[in-house]
Amino acid sequence: MRAADIQSELTEILVTEEQIREKLQEIAARVAEDYAGKDLLLVGVLKGAVMVMADFSRYLPSSVPMDWMAVSSYGAGTKSSGVVQIRKDLDTDLHDKHVLIVEDIIDSGLTLSWLLENFESRGAASIEVFALLRKPEAAKVQVDCKYVGFDIPNEFVIGYGLDYAEKYRNLRDVAVLAPHVYS
Ligand code: IMP
Ligand code: MG
Repeated sequence: MRAADIQSELTEILVTEEQIREKLQEIAARVAEDYAGKDLLLVGVLKGAVMVMADFSRYLPSSVPMDWMAVSSYGAGTKSSGVVQIRKDLDTDLHDKHVLIVEDIIDSGLTLSWLLENFESRGAASIEVFALLRKPEAAKVQVDCKYVGFDIPNEFVIGYGLDYAEKYRNLRDVAVLAPHVYS
């Protein structure tokens, strides 16, 4: 679905499907050049990164393996603890691999900083991050992100893989959810 299909549930469209497509092509070209001749592995974080991974990986001009990780963050209410539990681990041995983590969004940065530390202990040759979206004002920890699609305001967004209570992941655009939806 497009944002126009659920207009009353949104307050603002932040990034359109067309803008996403253009940005993914641009970043795929950079990644292809940066990793030429290297053993690249894409690692997606479920479930939010499914759309980014599907579209981004298909813009790469060579065959690149992908693996998936599922994690859940613990922290009550407003307090993000940064404690992360692995719900599904990788199938791939990271030893000597050049890992590119593919993420939907960096919010507080806590999940990603935990993941980076965890991956570093597995002997990867290098670890970099590609996040389609980033909320600079929400950062609680600094995460070194080599490829960023769009910096967005500190608001709750949905679409293109991002959900509210498992809804809206199949929205093609990225939009701000209207407050009346969650009150
Ligand atoms: P963190 O705060 O950077 O650890 O973000 C962890 C995860 O929370 C992200 O990977 C998203 O799946 C989810 N998340 C953060 N901000 C949003 C949002 O605005 N909408 C939907 N999900 C979000
Ligand atoms: Mg995520």
